[in-house]
Amino acid sequence: MKLKTMSISMTLALGLALTSMAGAENVNTAATHSVQAAQNTSAQDNRLVLLGTQGGPRVGVKRANPANLLVINGKKFVVDAGYGVSVQMVKAGYRLQDLDYVFITHMHSDHTLEYGNLFYNAWVTGGLKKPVQVYGPTGMKNMTEAYFKSNEIDINTRMADEDRADPRKLIAVHEIQQLNPVFKQDGIKVTAIKSIHPPFDETYSFKFEFNGKTVVFSGDSAYNEEMVKFAKGADYLVHEVQYEDGIRRLAKKLAGDSQSAEQQYQHFKGSHTNTDELGRLAQAAGVKNLVLTHYVPGDDPLISDKMWEEGVKQFYTGNVVIGKDLTSIDL
Ligand SMILES: [Zn+2]
Ligand SMILES: [Zn+2]
Repeated sequence: MKLKTMSISMTLALGLALTSMAGAENVNTAATHSVQAAQNTSAQDNRLVLLGTQGGPRVGVKRANPANLLVINGKKFVVDAGYGVSVQMVKAGYRLQDLDYVFITHMHSDHTLEYGNLFYNAWVTGGLKKPVQVYGPTGMKNMTEAYFKSNEIDINTRMADEDRADPRKLIAVHEIQQLNPVFKQDGIKVTAIKSIHPPFDETYSFKFEFNGKTVVFSGDSAYNEEMVKFAKGADYLVHEVQYEDGIRRLAKKLAGDSQSAEQQYQHFKGSHTNTDELGRLAQAAGVKNLVLTHYVPGDDPLISDKMWEEGVKQFYTGNVVIGKDLTSIDL
């Protein structure tokens, strides 16, 4: 569907297309996913699904932890694998055994906690036909080996008792060595830049180019001048965001013996992007659609959709998508 400045069609799992110019009302993410399952094996499927949109490791009921699904010509790329990613992928109407690629932006647990289990859940269906290819920072190989180790009694039992394939042979982990490209195959190119997310050194933003389209994922990052160039003219910039008043309240809540509220607040400021900074960045980059995700805080009732939107629209004149769990965008 097309609405003046809206150039995208946002379809829900059911194929219901709706959106809102103001962004105050966003997509209804009703549980209608299974209906779409049949179409999700199609090689014509090109789609971005936000699987989890809450920034940070806290588990809540409003949003799942960070994860995205990018479907390119039917191939399934999961970008970050926060807690809940498996069930969210199923809710979105996709079969876990169809997982092709996993890209991890950095080693914070809200982006990795369900990485092993996502792969396990894909394997245990018995339907994985070829190795899942994983791309991420240093530490991914170790994490993968440790995952298999921690589950070896179950895995060995199932291999012997249920005649299953060895899962260790159905995964290939690539720790990122070069940024341009990270990945290039079948007309799909993925490049990366380092994001700004202290105290980590190795944190990535990824750019996917395919079918003449560009989708950029910020991962976690403070305002990054380099992103302006990296995301130049992108069709979609999927970017993390935090809200000034919200992080002040959250910092107070999280303050404890080891860290004061001010220290917590300074951590947020130094490693994430405020709404106004993001609006400036998206405007300077001239992206066509700015998709908000990884909300910090993601569950503050005092911050409405409209407030998130107005925060970025002070400076950005393009289209804003107020991302929610299972927001699904036809590409
Ligand atoms: Zn995060
Ligand atoms: Zn992080």
